[in-house]
Amino acid sequence: MTDTQQLGERAQAMIDALATISADEGKLTRLYLSGEHKRAANLVGEWMRRAGLAVRMDAAATMHGLLPAGRDGPRSGKRLLIGSHIDTVVDAGKYDGNLGVIAGIIAVDELRARGVALPFELEVLAFGDEEGVRYPKTMISSSTIAGTVEANVLELTDAQGMTMRAALAEFGADPSHLTAEAYDPADVIGYLEVHIEQGPVLDQAGEALAVVSAIAGQTRFRASVRGEAGHAGTVPMAIRHDALAGAAEMISLIEAVGRRGAKASLVATVGEIRARPGASNVIPGLVEFSIDVRAADDATRNAAAAEIRQGAQQIAVRRGLVFGMETVHENGVAVAAPRLKRAIAGAITDVTGKTPRELMSGAGHDGQAMTKLTDIGMIFVRSRAGISHSPLEFTSAADMGLAVAALMRTIERIAGENA
Ligand SMILES: [Zn+2]
Repeated sequence: MTDTQQLGERAQAMIDALATISADEGKLTRLYLSGEHKRAANLVGEWMRRAGLAVRMDAAATMHGLLPAGRDGPRSGKRLLIGSHIDTVVDAGKYDGNLGVIAGIIAVDELRARGVALPFELEVLAFGDEEGVRYPKTMISSSTIAGTVEANVLELTDAQGMTMRAALAEFGADPSHLTAEAYDPADVIGYLEVHIEQGPVLDQAGEALAVVSAIAGQTRFRASVRGEAGHAGTVPMAIRHDALAGAAEMISLIEAVGRRGAKASLVATVGEIRARPGASNVIPGLVEFSIDVRAADDATRNAAAAEIRQGAQQIAVRRGLVFGMETVHENGVAVAAPRLKRAIAGAITDVTGKTPRELMSGAGHDGQAMTKLTDIGMIFVRSRAGISHSPLEFTSAADMGLAVAALMRTIERIAGENA
């Protein structure tokens, strides 16, 4: 068996072990600060200790595993961070997030076992909240380290009305320290993350790994259309103010705006809609729907959002409706640092013998929060058929082995530059 195969088998065994830790039998669900999160964090902590790392849990319940700098080499006193998340969506796949944490632990353990002396510290981070399923906010754990978390997140409540403050305390973390966990940018060299692609490009191209160029910016809006409810049999068509018919026209417009911006990786989606009063014999008087707009650059995204707002407004006026559009979530583009992209591309070439392609990530990742602290670099790993957030999510052991090897080479290349 080759080295890379061994790394892949090791990753597979760890992926399978973590996947058994779930709230639901027969499917994988692991929400932030749940009992399952606690058990997964304990297992990750155990793996970190066995890899020779000094382990601690921070106030956001992130597990940290630290490897000191090599004894002989020059010392920068700085730290290279490697991380991803161990929370999942409901009925999730087992690779999303978990692979990045496992790859980090294996890579650090292998480098240590091979006696590679690094001129900086390595720290593996297992974040607990990337998906944002339990609380109405994402990337709480990485934002904590990046120093952008605000104390009022502690008052957010889950569906059962439990505050994050109470959930953290029950978990064994110290919520009063949340805003004191921020790292000093001067102490950090960069942040690396291995993640499944969650899209079909690598699978279609027959390639295992890619360099991430950027994580798309994203804006989420809540739109509302107010019309006039009425009897579906008695109100003549000519004098209706049908909120749902108006929303349908707006949704067509949103799709058209998205299609036109394909070159700039623009995508626009309405994924959720509700009509009131919601009866087959009543003209809808109120409709609320979501709008999700993402693009590879902020200007394209903002222009698309403005075009949607203006176009929907015109449709509303023409139909005698009242349109509102409120921003509920916004993240700018997170661009990968050129020096880390170069190190990753070189590492992938070392491992696969081929020059990798660059891919933009349409999905959000912890790296978005980490750009507020330091440079980021990401390695994408092939996802079968591009499926994720599903039990059908699959990445082969062979590809995982290549990803771990590429991560190790990336660390060595960065060490070469920092020596
Ligand atoms: Zn993820």
